Amino acid sequence: MKYVIIGSSAAGMAAVKAIRAQDAQGSLTLVTQDATFYSRCQLHYVASGHKTAAQITLAKPDWHQHYQVAFHGHTTVTALDAAARTVTLDTGAVLPYDRLLIASGARSVFPPIAGLAGCNSFSLRTIEDAHAINHAVHATETVVIIGAGLVGVELALELAAIGKKVFLVELATRPLPLQLETIAGDLCAAMLRAAGIEVVLNQSVTAVQRDAAGQPTAVTLKSGAQIATRVVVCAAGTRPNVDFAAQTGLKINKGVVINLRCETSLPEVYAAGDVAEIPDTLTGKYAMSSIWPSAVRHGTVAGTRMAGGTAELDYNTSLKTAVSIAGTHVVSIGMVTSPDPAWHKHVLRGTNSRGQASLRILYVYQQRLMAALLWGDVVNAGVYSKAIVTQCDISQDDAFLGDLDAAKFGLDRAANATAGNANIQYPIPPLTGLQAARNFQ
Ligand SMILES: Cc1cc2nc3c(=O)[nH]c(=O)nc-3n(C[C@H](O)[C@H](O)[C@H](O)COP(=O)(O)OP(=O)(O)OC[C@H]3O[C@@H](n4cnc5c(N)ncnc54)[C@H](O)[C@@H]3O)c2cc1C
Repeated sequence: MKYVIIGSSAAGMAAVKAIRAQDAQGSLTLVTQDATFYSRCQLHYVASGHKTAAQITLAKPDWHQHYQVAFHGHTTVTALDAAARTVTLDTGAVLPYDRLLIASGARSVFPPIAGLAGCNSFSLRTIEDAHAINHAVHATETVVIIGAGLVGVELALELAAIGKKVFLVELATRPLPLQLETIAGDLCAAMLRAAGIEVVLNQSVTAVQRDAAGQPTAVTLKSGAQIATRVVVCAAGTRPNVDFAAQTGLKINKGVVINLRCETSLPEVYAAGDVAEIPDTLTGKYAMSSIWPSAVRHGTVAGTRMAGGTAELDYNTSLKTAVSIAGTHVVSIGMVTSPDPAWHKHVLRGTNSRGQASLRILYVYQQRLMAALLWGDVVNAGVYSKAIVTQCDISQDDAFLGDLDAAKFGLDRAANATAGNANIQYPIPPLTGLQAARNFQ
């Protein structure tokens, strides 16, 4: 069997491991533009200089030998011929495959802003981007970041922490508009401002001014205001890397369309990770994948099936984010930002173990937990997550949803009671929903 994998990040590496877990003999070739396997999620640390490239590397230099992989690093797949079952590389080589995995992820794209493309305008998607930003910010005091999504917010905090004056410009009325609803969004904006970041909301950058040498001098906002800067980072959008498959008949909508078995519309061609568009269990709609854990799960399923196994995703969602904002842990699960109007929103404020304000926003509908936002206290986030993903009945758990410690205490008591410990009284109704969620594998 000849396996070819395009991409060596979360999805591609998970597939390598899954294939080798089932097939120790097959010929396995991996083609990637990267030279090393690293954590894309930590690129902002390299951009600020808080970490080196070596510190975000996820595999030993000889990992491909360990997995008996023919590794083509710094190499681009330029064409796929689905009829001939080959891929062509930018080196001119043509590789035949029996089974192919497209795990080529996504790349950053610049929105159509006049003057944006040019020197000292960056995006943050690769280790090369991170090094370039790090190099550029050394020579400047001010940085403008376009987009206050995950990448923009994390980078802003990192650059503020090394003393840069950061302007974070966001079209929406709050930062992290895909993860936070309005209450948490306001908290987040306040926290970013406390870190010294100029958070400019409900605004867009309409142009980047440049001097005669082509260097940025300022950005212009929709309001007409200008911000002087020598460095611009755009964190406002990505596009899947599928140019090589354009003429193949592969079904591509926003991304390569796959099912829960990670199969594409072409025989013996699979796709996984950020390149893919896949049914989201929580919305029932197709959506682009965009988070690392999903890419790993897809890659594992795809690799297992490519090697003849029977794996299938039992659930899939990208609506699950864990992020640390200036040291405050935040978890967003489900359609927190676009809840169904019929859902009941519970807002529970408290104090975490460090004495900081914490917030728990829970959306409940017909004895089901639909979505949850945990701010400052993410204990038992896994329990909430499983309750949402499994859509189990929480009618008996409702009183405990607002108090995570009590919920956990209740679960432990229930477990002990089930184990037959007669000394432990069972003062509460059985925690059917959360218990079921906790058992979900
Ligand atoms: C700055 C940043 C922070 C992030 N933070 C988080 C976070 O906190 N939590 C989270 O869950 N997710 C986060 N993400 C998203 C996460 O990194 C992605 O979901 C994940 O990397 C997707 O993995 P992937 O394997 O699908 O694709 P990618 O990581 O995009 O990798 C694609 C691979 O394909 C290769 N490739 C592309 N085109 C070709 C071609 N034509 N030929 C050969 N090789 C090719 C690339 O070289 C690369 O190896 C972050 C992303 C960024 C950029």
